[in-house]
Amino acid sequence: MFAPGPDVVVVGGGPAGAHLALRLAARGHSVVVLDRKRFPRSKPCGEFMSPECLPLLAELGLADAVLARGAHRVAGMDLYGCGRIARGAYAPVGRAPVPFGGGYALRREVLDELSLRAAARAPGVEVREGCRIEGLLRAADGAVLGVCGRDAGNAPFEVRARFTVGADGPRSRVAGELGVRRAVPWLCKFALATRYRGVAPRAHAEVHFFPRGYFAASAVDGGQFTINLVVDRARLPQGRAQLDALFDACLQEVPALRERLAGAERARGFLVTGPLAGRTTRQTFDGAALVGDACGYVDPVTGEGLFAAMRGAALLAETLDAALRAGRTDRRGLDDYVRARRRELAPRALLSTWLQRGLRHPAIVKRVMALLAARPHLTELLVAITGDYVPGRELLRPSVWYRALTR
Ligand SMILES: Cc1cc2nc3c(=O)[nH]c(=O)nc-3n(C[C@H](O)[C@H](O)[C@H](O)COP(=O)(O)OP(=O)(O)OC[C@H]3O[C@@H](n4cnc5c(N)ncnc54)[C@H](O)[C@@H]3O)c2cc1C
Repeated sequence: MFAPGPDVVVVGGGPAGAHLALRLAARGHSVVVLDRKRFPRSKPCGEFMSPECLPLLAELGLADAVLARGAHRVAGMDLYGCGRIARGAYAPVGRAPVPFGGGYALRREVLDELSLRAAARAPGVEVREGCRIEGLLRAADGAVLGVCGRDAGNAPFEVRARFTVGADGPRSRVAGELGVRRAVPWLCKFALATRYRGVAPRAHAEVHFFPRGYFAASAVDGGQFTINLVVDRARLPQGRAQLDALFDACLQEVPALRERLAGAERARGFLVTGPLAGRTTRQTFDGAALVGDACGYVDPVTGEGLFAAMRGAALLAETLDAALRAGRTDRRGLDDYVRARRRELAPRALLSTWLQRGLRHPAIVKRVMALLAARPHLTELLVAITGDYVPGRELLRPSVWYRALTR
């Protein structure tokens, strides 16, 4: 008998895919989510959610669960570099309050499983783990009709759906099949992610800059401390055995962090990932769209990937709901999603790109660190902007800039 496919097949059960499934299910659509991994799965990440993530989780009924799992509240961000420290607490900007009192840090295996299991419980959602997507099903005119791949037992399978979404992360197979993935050659960085036990937790997350790299660190749930080391590809050793030596050598360049780790014990080995940056030339297609890191990613220094994944899912769900109801799953039916991404997410990606360009020049880093260390309210504003909770209109208020630049 012919089994009708779901309304939407989503490739990837990370934050973007799980949030999208939850939001589509709430609007009455049937969804199949496919992920090559079994959850809980680990993911190299700073594990820090900017303040604006919590309202998005709350909309899906997940905020209480995140707090109940012991997410560490992050009250601000401290920047270290060139012998200076700039501390920025999350504070209201103009009329924009700090949602939920700050950001939160939760281990990704906890956060992502919580979201995916919630999606699996939603009416009309089916989650299939251990299913790797290897290709797209296409109509003669190129429109996407679904996906094909291999299940956990290596058996081939297909899922046909009215609409296909690539939420499959920075090395998106879906984006690759659609021919829109591009490298960012000037920004070829790799990350080593690890965790420690026995580090005294602090209220602020930390970024420690050193020539040609940085460490990003934060306390997380479970009494652990997550550290990401980000370096140019050229510094990455060939063999895993030398990762410890690289990590220790870079730690020598950031004494404030090195001292905090003295006596602490490593809670897990290194997860290595890169190149971190990538981009796509398009995010919508006839019968398909991309969301989250599958659309592109810059660099974790401002810790905004989770917000972009969650907010991108909210934007896509809204447009896709209308498109499915109108029976318009062609590319033009998704124009509102493209416009909303341009309005809300593109300026943030641009800011991250500028930051990355600046970080390549030690003289700029030195001047910026000196400026931020001398102007606490400017640091506060920068930290708030990267915290995703400041609407553009608040940044148009002269009083906001007067406070940041004169005190
Ligand atoms: C080192 C590092 C540190 C970071 N730190 C932070 C931070 O502190 N704060 C922050 O906000 N962001 C951070 N980010 C970014 C953040 O991790 C991502 O933006 C976020 O995970 C994006 O979510 P996603 O759902 O789009 O993709 P992912 O979380 O990558 O999920 C994609 C899913 O797709 C699945 N998948 C992939 N290919 C296939 C396939 N072929 N078939 C089936 N399934 C597939 C994967 O198994 C995965 O579960 C960091 C990123 C890196 C690399």
